[in-house]
Amino acid sequence: MKRIIYVPFDHLHRKFGALKDSDPKHDLIVLVESARMTTGRNWHKERLFFLISSARHFAKSLEDEGFTVEYVKAATTVAGLKIVQKNYPKLPITCAEPSSFRHFEALKAHGVVFVENDFFLTPRPLFHSWAKDQKSYLMESFYRKQRTRLNILMDGSEPVGGSWNFDKENRLPPPKKYEGPKYLEHQRDEIDNQVALEISHEPTTTWATTRKGALAQLKNFIDNHFAEFGPLEDAMTTDNWALHHSLLSPYLNNGLLHPSEVIRAAVQAFNTGSIPIESAEGFIRQVIGWREYVNGMYWFLGPNYRENNQLNATRKLLPLFSDPDKTEMNCIKQTVTDINDRAWVHHIPRLMLLSNLALITGTNPQEFLEWMREVFIDASEWVMVPNVIGMGVHADGGTMMTKPYAAGGAYISRMSNYCKPCVYDPKLRVGEKACPFTTLYWDFLDRHKAAFVKNHRMSQQIFGLNRLSDLPQLKVRATDVLEGLEAGTI
Ligand SMILES: Cc1cc2nc3c(=O)[nH]c(=O)nc-3n(C[C@H](O)[C@H](O)[C@H](O)COP(=O)(O)OP(=O)(O)OC[C@H]3O[C@@H](n4cnc5c(N)ncnc54)[C@H](O)[C@@H]3O)c2cc1C
Ligand code: SF4
Repeated sequence: MKRIIYVPFDHLHRKFGALKDSDPKHDLIVLVESARMTTGRNWHKERLFFLISSARHFAKSLEDEGFTVEYVKAATTVAGLKIVQKNYPKLPITCAEPSSFRHFEALKAHGVVFVENDFFLTPRPLFHSWAKDQKSYLMESFYRKQRTRLNILMDGSEPVGGSWNFDKENRLPPPKKYEGPKYLEHQRDEIDNQVALEISHEPTTTWATTRKGALAQLKNFIDNHFAEFGPLEDAMTTDNWALHHSLLSPYLNNGLLHPSEVIRAAVQAFNTGSIPIESAEGFIRQVIGWREYVNGMYWFLGPNYRENNQLNATRKLLPLFSDPDKTEMNCIKQTVTDINDRAWVHHIPRLMLLSNLALITGTNPQEFLEWMREVFIDASEWVMVPNVIGMGVHADGGTMMTKPYAAGGAYISRMSNYCKPCVYDPKLRVGEKACPFTTLYWDFLDRHKAAFVKNHRMSQQIFGLNRLSDLPQLKVRATDVLEGLEAGTI
């Protein structure tokens, strides 16, 4: 053996990272199941199950290929590497650059040699060279550069379809009683059952834990959902928990799928003529735009960015985030129940329900971030930190997004079927039936008026606030709502 290749649980691809030029004759493969990762926090069991079972299946596939694989359980990653090194003291350790600052530092301090992290389409230095010259880090301008650089959906130097963006077509509310195609189910095997037993969990059949299953999910999306992805991408409905979202983020994030494979499949399907441009563009924007932008910003903004709290939000995490019985708000009750069931909801509930609520209640950003990290199937540090701190709760003072994503009940009512059966009324801002989102939206603007008045993108909202005739009553109701939310009675 000539070297040890350490494979983190989010680098599970044979053709990328340190494994791409590996050889069973010379390379010893090490995977570490660290206690920090398994029992260190109150992780959602579905998430734990997915990560561990995927890693064990991947280790087995390498063994089947003829590799010597050491799958070690230890307190930390470095402790696991030390156990293996006892038997192979002279071998250098190689790994692709890890996906978080903490992991990077720990491995560097242990003397691990890094190869470039190629699990994204944009090398970190390339993103840095774009970001350092920007006045404001607009995703849209990064995305247009990506389209041109990667030559995706381009007609020479012009965007295919004559526009970079079809967002206007992609904001439809959910149709009534919307069923859609059947969900793809993933059957469990021996490795899955063993992991489930070890962590005392009854897994769903929602998430694949193998490369084969991840490829089946990709095919299912392309064949059955891609064409309709765009128009309904912001809609929320209790009739269908995924609508036409791809459900690919867990595999993109743990390495079972590479973004280039997803994009290739999407472009191929578009080229057959069966996918409308608004769906093709909408999906490709998520993968080559948002995903790459968020990863780039994580590394660009540095390790201290996660500690931002520029709106001085100090409220403790509300009980409704972990227990849906602690609220009467139908939208939140349904969303937290969905998360408890399968560790996933799509981007609008994450942004316009959960983060919006944390934002307008003044919940401490770090407490909210930790909760989001624990409960989502696809949560990794690099993706949660910018999405929550920058986009979700505006804790960075506008570094990433020029204005906060704050909204009242009217938006939720328009984009979902949550409000009809709810005990609250999205149109009301005062009184016992007032929707907490609607009341707290105005209260939030009022509390931060001095800061927002300087932001020209907020002028319309501040103008609206200044015209409210019932602001004193609204402030009284807001106090009651906040107390009720803390007590778990609203
Ligand atoms: C507050 C907040 C927290 C989020 N946390 C995570 C997270 O921990 N992990 C995660 O992968 N995504 C996160 N997202 C982005 C997005 O919600 C999920 O990627 C998406 O819901 C996953 O489901 P899907 O695969 O069906 O996505 P689709 O809607 O089908 O989109 C396709 C792909 O685009 C990528 N993508 C889209 N938006 C983003 C984004 N903002 N950041 C990164 N990738 C994006 C994902 O890889 C996704 O699989 C977050 C968004 C918000 C607003
Ligand atoms: S009325 Fe308000 S609390 Fe109730 S579901 Fe609608 S937005 Fe949510």
